[in-house]
Amino acid sequence: SAKEAGRDRMVLFDDELREKQLAVARTVERLRGALTRGEFVVYYQPLIRLDDERIAGFEALIRWQPAGEPMVPPDRFIGLAEDSGLIVPIGAWILRESCRVAAGWHRRHATVISVNVSPRQLREPDFGLLVLDVLRTSGLPPEALILEITEGVLVNSGLVTEQAISHLAMLRSHGVKVAIDDFGTGYSSLAYLRDLPIDHVKIDRSFMPAQDAPDPTAGVLIKAIIDLAAGLRLGTIAEGVETRAQVDLLRELGCVRAQGFYFSRPVPESDAARLLHEASTTNQTA
Ligand code: C2E
Ligand code: MG
Ligand code: MG
Ligand code: MG
Repeated sequence: SAKEAGRDRMVLFDDELREKQLAVARTVERLRGALTRGEFVVYYQPLIRLDDERIAGFEALIRWQPAGEPMVPPDRFIGLAEDSGLIVPIGAWILRESCRVAAGWHRRHATVISVNVSPRQLREPDFGLLVLDVLRTSGLPPEALILEITEGVLVNSGLVTEQAISHLAMLRSHGVKVAIDDFGTGYSSLAYLRDLPIDHVKIDRSFMPAQDAPDPTAGVLIKAIIDLAAGLRLGTIAEGVETRAQVDLLRELGCVRAQGFYFSRPVPESDAARLLHEASTTNQTA
């Protein structure tokens, strides 16, 4: 009967759901051991100054490399790490590791490092102290560290989240910089840009005008964001820059920095060091 068929579907659905939950539980279990097994790797993507197109710094982007398996991109495990709370130790690790590496680069090239911080990390009472300790032990000057947070971290259902704000205000008083990541994809009011403790706006790549679009309105939104940020004395970093035309448009609009495959994909530490070295050698002969 129809009733029985419906029940069968329910059983099937329950089985599938259970299967999915088991798969998630297994991944969380593997994620739990990944830190001690040393399976996380940091990739670095150059941030380019648009006035001279030189490397201003790098964004640290985490990768998971389980032994004998393909590399896992962050979109496949950051969500699980957040839900399970594992992002707290994992986030502390990437902060320590990328600041250690960046301190060496900073001494020679005065570059900055930009590190993603998840909402869960900012709810930890010790987050501010952790960052100060990482700076002390790495020797990286606070001014050379940018913390990337998303709009939702600071403003949740219209309410400013006080714990996150107080961590960031304290760290900024030490000189640490704060960037709003993926700007324009959240729902917060533009007025927050004026009131929140931030220094840079990272413009989400969805605002990047398409490759060879002769569409005259293509740059309207990105221009509005750049003008707004500049008016509020905030720095601007455009994400997802893939073509020469986009680079030229962004410079024309007054965007300060850009990041994207046009310049470089995220690369392992040794490749990033080589990029820096090549750039500085080119400078000496120029
Ligand atoms: P995000 O912070 O917005 O990082 C930028 C993402 O855009 C990176 O993806 C980068 O590889 C990609 N991207 C850069 N340039 C281009 C381009 O020209 N075209 C296109 N199509 N994509 C570009 P990735 O490394 O897969 O990271 C994805 C997201 O995972 C990040 O987005 C960030 O939200 C999160 N994530 C990465 N590492 C960490 C971490 O250490 N901690 C936390 N909490 N989140 C992280
Ligand atoms: Mg980011
Ligand atoms: Mg981003
Ligand atoms: Mg983005």
